[in-house]
Amino acid sequence: MSMEHMTILLAGGRGQRMGSAFPDKVLTDVGGRPLFEYLLRAFVRSGIQDGFVVVYRDQAQRIVLEKLCRPVSPEKPVHFVQGGRERRDSVLSGLAALPSETRFVYIHDAARAAVTPEALTRVRAALESGSKAVSLAHRISDTVRRFAASPLEEPVDGELLDRNGLWAMETPQGFQRTLIEEAHARFAGSATDDLAAVEAMGLPVRLIENPHPNPKLTRSADLPAFATLLQSPSMEPYPPSPRLRVGNGYDIHRLKEGLPLVLGGVSIPSDHGLEGHSDADVLTHALADAILGACGLPDIGTYFPNTDPACKGMDSQLILRKACEEASAKGFNLVNADLSIIAEKPKLGPHVAAMKTALSRTLGLGPEAIGIKATTHERIGALGQGAGIAAYATVLLAGVNA
Ligand code: MG
Repeated sequence: MSMEHMTILLAGGRGQRMGSAFPDKVLTDVGGRPLFEYLLRAFVRSGIQDGFVVVYRDQAQRIVLEKLCRPVSPEKPVHFVQGGRERRDSVLSGLAALPSETRFVYIHDAARAAVTPEALTRVRAALESGSKAVSLAHRISDTVRRFAASPLEEPVDGELLDRNGLWAMETPQGFQRTLIEEAHARFAGSATDDLAAVEAMGLPVRLIENPHPNPKLTRSADLPAFATLLQSPSMEPYPPSPRLRVGNGYDIHRLKEGLPLVLGGVSIPSDHGLEGHSDADVLTHALADAILGACGLPDIGTYFPNTDPACKGMDSQLILRKACEEASAKGFNLVNADLSIIAEKPKLGPHVAAMKTALSRTLGLGPEAIGIKATTHERIGALGQGAGIAAYATVLLAGVNA
């Protein structure tokens, strides 16, 4: 794999201005994902690089970053190298870790997590058209004044700067690899970006006006604005997570000689049947309760009280249908159901396929999405003595507009 274009992500900054509640700025949670994940994804989507060098702060951070990178960049290699005290030390570590065949390098401050894939492609295009040192930037629209002393303590004389021609630098900055290596090797000063080293050699630099906001996360107060930017269409945002709900249900009924046995909507030949107000279909009851539970709704007894004569001998498929309607009214549909029946007798294996068909019809769900297992209770306890039949149900529901 060619490694001509490499991106160095500087993730080791301390971010002290974020405050103590945010111990690692680039791992700050925004909408359930760490900031660094959005950033890496934007670079991966832009396709500008053949691989990454992530400059980390310490081993603890490296472990988290490595885990994050694997799924986001499964194809492009990600190298890890420890950074130094100052930003420039970290840049030098990153440059030293580049593969030998690298010709172009993009150096990016990971705190600029809202950089868009589109802006990134402009940086690569500028390098490919012959520029040797380029930076994303924006014009300064604020009025700018310089003060020799802090104007915060007491009034001091200020100097109004002409904002014409003033640009604020962003990252990434892109370079011909040999140029930035030579520039940093010669550079003696200190600077907050890498263009400074090239300028110190007396060489011109090229700016790319970024049409998208690309701020640097500095203070925790910036987070709401970041969350908005990361969801903007130009970031190709993550699709919203589907609304998923899990539910469980349990039911048990006594077995009694001479009663009909109905399980999963199927009449099963047996000299014993289940006792109950309705048809006592214990499996269907557990399933209906699981569906209601997943929606945060009360159990089936609330909808079909055993004191209601209208429910006497009722077909439990009606109960199940009602549970589905309630779920649907809450905006949820059943994805799958997994059911277990515990019965010492009769043998239920031969009836499982018929139960799947019956439940499938009530649920409006393919039989492949319904699991039914029948087990005995190994003669343990009352269930094992055949005193009753119990059933467990687990269901997954998904939001209808997910
Ligand atoms: Mg019941």
